[in-house]
Amino acid sequence: MKCHLLHVCCAPDLVIAYLAGARGDVYFYNPNIHPKEEYEKRKLEVLKVAQLFNLDVIEVEYDPQRFFGAVQGLEAEAEGGKRCEVCFELRLRKAALAAKELGYASFSTTLTASPKKDFTLINNVGQKVASQVGVIYLPNVYRKGPTYNDAQRLVKMLGIYRQNYCGCVFSRRVRSGEDPSER
Ligand code: SF4
Repeated sequence: MKCHLLHVCCAPDLVIAYLAGARGDVYFYNPNIHPKEEYEKRKLEVLKVAQLFNLDVIEVEYDPQRFFGAVQGLEAEAEGGKRCEVCFELRLRKAALAAKELGYASFSTTLTASPKKDFTLINNVGQKVASQVGVIYLPNVYRKGPTYNDAQRLVKMLGIYRQNYCGCVFSRRVRSGEDPSER
């Protein structure tokens, strides 16, 4: 049996999680990221960090239509609201299914490294999908570790790309002062 599958949301959060002790094969499944160029940019940064830390990477498809389908009707939700819960569940369910199919003993996510995200909600969603799929989810709060500030310094020192919006087109619009629900 393989050891641990680590769902990774972005390179800076992978650095934070790694310094806090996270290990495992990297699983970059984030269909929420928009546009595709931004997705490719974030993925490339994750691959660089994975190489630096000698972590194996599992290839995953980019399927943004699954995200848009899942959050339909929730476009105008504020960041941190119901849309984000659905977004977490979409990503963690896919990671749970992959862990099960590929024979990993457990899985977790770097999403809890972000200071802007509700780690209790993320861990609850992780536990829920894990019990539905029949795998083990390891709850964590990577941003609370004593190495958090070291990780921030390392991200800066290595010149790792740090995005200025969460990921989806709606969060991008809010960041630019536009209406998030515009079609
Ligand atoms: S704001 Fe972030 S967590 Fe919320 S739906 Fe968008 S990408 Fe997902």
